[in-house]
Amino acid sequence: MWIPLNKFYTGGDEVYSFRRGEICKHCKGTGDLSGKKQVCPVCGGTGKMFREVKVKDTVKKVEMKCKECGGTGFGAKQKCPVCGGNKITMAPRDLKFEL
Ligand SMILES: [Zn+2]
Ligand SMILES: [Zn+2]
Repeated sequence: MWIPLNKFYTGGDEVYSFRRGEICKHCKGTGDLSGKKQVCPVCGGTGKMFREVKVKDTVKKVEMKCKECGGTGFGAKQKCPVCGGNKITMAPRDLKFEL
């Protein structure tokens, strides 16, 4: 879609609404297919995992952010097909342009 450049200056509201995202209604903003947050199966919801790291001759347990959920403790195993797991959708009605 090509929009004349001056539209960006004269139609401030239009540009604003064009960029506005809405919380995905399909997954209610969770990004998950089931519509609710699921506890991350890897860390069990703690958001942490431990890795054994060898330092010289001793093995240390190092606390790390869970790779699976990125430290949130929630895993979205099945991403919402509507927003692709982004939790935000661009509402079609906001894309209406009257040029
Ligand atoms: Zn996790
Ligand atoms: Zn969604």
